[in-house]
Amino acid sequence: MEKALDLIPELEERDAIMHDQHLVLKSGRHGSDYINMDFAFSDAQFMGALGLAQAKSLVRIGLDALVAPAIGGVSLVQWVALGVYKLEGRWLKIYWAEKQPNGGFAFERARWQHDLKGLRVAGVEDVVTTGGSLLETLTLAEKAGSELVTSSATVKRGDQITELAGCSFSALAHVDYPDWDASKCPQCDAGAPIAIDVAHGAKFREEHPDYPGGWVELLGA
Ligand SMILES: [Zn+2]
Repeated sequence: MEKALDLIPELEERDAIMHDQHLVLKSGRHGSDYINMDFAFSDAQFMGALGLAQAKSLVRIGLDALVAPAIGGVSLVQWVALGVYKLEGRWLKIYWAEKQPNGGFAFERARWQHDLKGLRVAGVEDVVTTGGSLLETLTLAEKAGSELVTSSATVKRGDQITELAGCSFSALAHVDYPDWDASKCPQCDAGAPIAIDVAHGAKFREEHPDYPGGWVELLGA
């Protein structure tokens, strides 16, 4: 019997969750907590356990394929497919959608766009807050002729998502860290430096080069 995955403590142990920092989230809002799955992706043993845990909501529903948004989803979706195989004894196809210069996503490799036609698919993503990338990936799969069945995330941040693209949505863990509109951020008010090597701080610096609190790098050498 495999030990159940206690996800949030396991992520904390791998430094994949940051607290008490000044961070710019993908939404543009500012926060002090951030889940950086890069610290988990490099740990194959952990990813094997994570893929298996996340696969549990994706078995015995007749799936043909998993779809995921790049970049985090590229690693994760393969481990989840392996998890489905371990639980159900059948292999699913996997496809990922990649970010385009115009900001959207596309299934652009090989004949993936064509191959998705007629498949029953589930969406897979690591951390979701608004679920924007995952929703776009699902919508693209549907346009390509897939039948959408469900979606699964590793961590759901906040309470915004209950379903995606008209299908059920589940997450292995749920966290609720505070965030603020940039204009009302208490850390900006206090002049705290913004992290530029984590989350979306570098983009914020491009847009606000004169931010008086300055910048900081957290990952360091
Ligand atoms: Zn701020």
